[in-house]
Amino acid sequence: MIIFHKQADLKNWALKNAGKWQHCGFVPTMGALHSGHIALVKQSKTATPLTVASIFVNPSQFNDPKDFEKYPVTIDSDIRALETAGCDILFLPGLSEIYPQGWKTDRHYALESLENLLEGYYRPGHFQGVCQVVHRLLDIVKPARLFMGQKDYQQCMVVNRLIELENLPVTLVTCPTIRESDGLAMSSRNLRLTPEQRTIAPSIFRELEQVKQDLYQFPLRILEERAAANLLAAGFRSVDYISVANGQTLEPVDNIEETKKAVVLAAAFLGEVRLIDNLLLN
Ligand code: AMP
Repeated sequence: MIIFHKQADLKNWALKNAGKWQHCGFVPTMGALHSGHIALVKQSKTATPLTVASIFVNPSQFNDPKDFEKYPVTIDSDIRALETAGCDILFLPGLSEIYPQGWKTDRHYALESLENLLEGYYRPGHFQGVCQVVHRLLDIVKPARLFMGQKDYQQCMVVNRLIELENLPVTLVTCPTIRESDGLAMSSRNLRLTPEQRTIAPSIFRELEQVKQDLYQFPLRILEERAAANLLAAGFRSVDYISVANGQTLEPVDNIEETKKAVVLAAAFLGEVRLIDNLLLN
């Protein structure tokens, strides 16, 4: 695996290997890699001739500065994991490489309701930061395909919107959520859970499954309320949302029978750690 810290070096190499590079797959990450990230790399490897991953903890997408400060960094084991997975290129830029003018900006991406619903509502500015960094990384790497996880369902919608808004020549491939054996969605933030919290954390997946199971038996708002109450009873500190939503707009769904693609999404705090998850329903 070749590691580039500077975009100029990466671009030089890309130019010399343009034949492969023009079809390359790209997996952007913030590091602290787990099997969910590695699954994206593997999916890219089966679908493209060259796989480029990046590790960059993007300050502009953290609405909570404490979350940024505490974001886990495990760079040596990340490099080993990418190498073992057969990743071809790692882009590992510093802050000034991504944001030579600093990351504060007036630029606003027209995300419309995606920015006001669910994650957008609870994490003001988060998706603007995601767009800022993904746009910048796509501009540098110029991949043919972009591999991202369904674990961050709304983020995939936002990135699709970015691609549309900016007319970017890249296709987003959404990959399934990889879970621990007890159902907990893998996440870099799981590293911050205490052993006790770790035993409670899979409740979030169990509650989503329960909603899915009872979908046609109870009113959806009742199911959401019951799931939130169960999470609090299990030991979660607070629940930002549990929402049965239209998979294309994220607006709440009233009648499941009338919705072609529905998804249930959840975000809740276990101590200081905010966990998110979702399940496709139909
Ligand atoms: P992050 O490092 O958290 O920014 O995530 C980088 C990419 O990995 C994003 O596209 C995430 O959606 C994806 N990802 C994170 N966790 C998982 C998971 N458990 N399964 C599949 N993809 C994931």
